Amino acid sequence: MLTKDKGIVLRNVNYSETSQILTFFTELNGKVSAIAKGSRRPKNKFAGPLEILTAGEMVIMPGADDRLWTLTEFEQIFYPVSLRKSLPALNSVLLAAEILNILTIEHDIHQRLYMGMLEFMQEMERCADERQILLTLLSFQLFLLKETGGEPVLDFCVNCKSHYGPLWQRCFFSSTASGLVCRDCQGNFADKIELSKTVADCLSDRKKMLNADKTSLLAIERLLISHITSITSRRLKMADMVLRIFKR
Ligand SMILES: [Zn+2]
Repeated sequence: MLTKDKGIVLRNVNYSETSQILTFFTELNGKVSAIAKGSRRPKNKFAGPLEILTAGEMVIMPGADDRLWTLTEFEQIFYPVSLRKSLPALNSVLLAAEILNILTIEHDIHQRLYMGMLEFMQEMERCADERQILLTLLSFQLFLLKETGGEPVLDFCVNCKSHYGPLWQRCFFSSTASGLVCRDCQGNFADKIELSKTVADCLSDRKKMLNADKTSLLAIERLLISHITSITSRRLKMADMVLRIFKR
């Protein structure tokens, strides 16, 4: 049965000489893989191959085994054109799309994630500098972790539940524990990473993150990339590029 929906292209892979297999995050059906037959032909009903990050209104048809659907119509409603002018913003959005893809499973309906991704791309287009881009990327990654049920604990020790505060002389983060770990408990977690005071302050209090400098935000980004890589056991293809761009 044909279904109307809206979706954002998170991934596009060429298939045969003329077609594409696309991963959409849709408003009504969650993540969906669909084949766009003929989308790479010179003249086609989709107005050209579908580019990553394009959002549009679409008509899709479920596949026989529910895995590969078929895209029958697509009309673009949004494309983040101005991201092309900013390498940091464009690569940050590509990283976010990759993370949204690996943190979700197909057909798990989640409208807030669809809206969140759309708003995140629009916000990225308005970012004035690299610090703001990093801040927007960090907020979105924390939102993704929260919405997909993997939000790390960032205001108390996961092990002994003591609240993070000025009395903590050292602070650690463990991905297996999914959160902060205090000095007394850190010995139990082989994968712990020691955090600087600024990073720990920013993680435990978002207001401090808003005023943090670019170096601290980059340290938090490195931590989140390492955490997401660890919990998904997947290497993030865009991670090195993003870290390199902001390090300049
Ligand atoms: Zn503890």
